[in-house]
This record gives sequence, C-alpha cells and structure tokens, in this order.
Amino acid sequence: MGIYALTGGATGIGAELRRQLLNEGHNVISVDIQEGDIIADLSTPDGRQLAIDEVRARAPDGLDGFIPCAGLPPVAKPLSLVTQVNYFGVVATVEGLRDLVAMKRGSILIVTSNSAPMIDTEDVYVQACLAGDEATACADIEARDGHTAYAGSKRAIAIWMRRNVVDYAASGVRLNAIAPGATLTPLTERVMADPELGQIMRDFADNVPSGGTAQPDQIANVMRFMLGPEASFIYGAVFFVDGGSDAMLRSDEF
Ligand code: NAD
Repeated sequence: MGIYALTGGATGIGAELRRQLLNEGHNVISVDIQEGDIIADLSTPDGRQLAIDEVRARAPDGLDGFIPCAGLPPVAKPLSLVTQVNYFGVVATVEGLRDLVAMKRGSILIVTSNSAPMIDTEDVYVQACLAGDEATACADIEARDGHTAYAGSKRAIAIWMRRNVVDYAASGVRLNAIAPGATLTPLTERVMADPELGQIMRDFADNVPSGGTAQPDQIANVMRFMLGPEASFIYGAVFFVDGGSDAMLRSDEF
C-alpha cells in the first residue's frame, strides 16, 4: 500500500479523499490549519516550511502522492489570504515535497476549479502569481474582488502546473490538476451564506447541465483515479469534474 500526503484534509473534498485513501489501506499524512496529523498555516512562509519539514520527517522513504487540497473561498478576508493559500501555499509545498514524490515515481494532483478559465492569463494578478511575486499579487488583489482573487489563484495554479509538467516528468513525477465544479463542502456553505455571491452561486448551480452541486465523493473518486496506476499515462491534464459547466461556457475550447 502507498503513502500519501495531502493538505486541507480536515473538511470537504480533502477529508473525503483522505477517507477513501485510508479505506483502500494507504497511509495518509494530513496537513491542515484546523485538525490533522500536522497543524500548519499554509498562508505563511513559516507554516509552509513547518508542513514540509513535518511531512519529510514522517515519509523519509518518499511519497506515492501529494495533493495540495487546502483552499479558501472568494469570501475569505482579507482577500490576500486566498492568494497566499490557494497559489503560494500550493507552489511552496509542491516544490518542497517534489523530491519525496520523485523517490517513488509518484503523482502530484493540484486542485484548481471550473472558475479558473473565467480570468484571463494576462491579468496582472495572475501574472504576479506566476512571477512568484507574492507581495505584488497580494497588494493587487486587496483592491479587487473575491471572484478575481479565487478564480485568478486557480487560473494561475493550473498554468503553473502545465508549465512544470515536462520538468517534473523528467524527475519521474506525474503532475495533473482536477477542476471541480460547485461541490457541497464548508467552503461552498460560506459562499452560499454571502449576501452577494450566495445568490450568484445558487443561480449558477441551477444552470449546470447536470443540475445542482456535487457531493465531495464525486470529486474524490476521480482524484483517486488520477493518483493511481490506471492514470499512469495522464500528464498535465486539467480534468473538469463540474457537471458540464465548463463545456457549457466554453464549448469550442479544450
Ligand atoms: P473546505 O473548506 O471544506 O476545505 C478546505 C480545507 O483547507 C479545510 O480543511 C481548511 O481548514 C483548510 N485550510 C484553509 N486555510 C488553510 C490554511 N491557511 N492552512 C492550512 N489549511 C487551510 O473546502 P473544499 O470545498 O473541500 O475545498 C477543497 C479544495 O477544492 C480547495 O482548494 C477549493 O478551492 C477547491 N474547490 C472547491 C470547490 C467547491 O465547490 N467546494 C470547487 C472547486 C474547487
């Protein structure tokens, strides 16, 4: 059986993936700010380093997979927290654990979103993220809106993943992303409760081709497949698991 590390394992999609991996008999190291094997705040450089050091101590022989699943919604405040956790926390932990995953020729699965294509790659915020300029990205987003903070962080992390596929493959690591649509988790509940974004999200969910929202297991099932041996030729994919919303919005693009 394998050994996996994930972040954001306390609730929602991460908690369901953790449950499924444990159920299959794997060892799982869970990093989260609330509850887990390792308590770390991934919005800060110190928290990210703590997470990396503690995972390394628990998996000295390598990891079969790493899933940086922790994320904050568009209603988080300040907005720069979204940038820090959803983009910079992900890049730092992936880079910090890459060699452990390489030791087992394992897989890293980024969690982006069906909202990622809604923000242009050329957006200054996305570009600041991709340039690795956390201070500029955080300063820029404070003057903007939650949707841009969230979807832009997810756009940037998906592009970061695509840019790094060749390099990671050369060291034996398979890099991919999943792009969930609206899924019933505490994150979604926070958005639904927002006076402005709540109604927008409900209207959006009503119009998704499948109708409604996903349950966390509908996302985690696909994540487990993407991490496992049956997906061994999948590299650099952004796998939309969104009830058809991306196909509805961008029919001619893939
Ligand atoms: P969730 O809120 O249930 O889980 C997120 C987890 O991240 C929580 O356990 C939380 O404690 C942890 N976390 C938050 N800030 C942290 C920090 N600073 N340091 C460490 N851990 C921190 O949300 P979810 O819906 O399960 O989201 C999981 C991932 O899926 C996120 O990256 C999210 O952006 C993405 N996603 C979710 C949806 C959705 O509709 N739920 C859609 C697309 C993408």
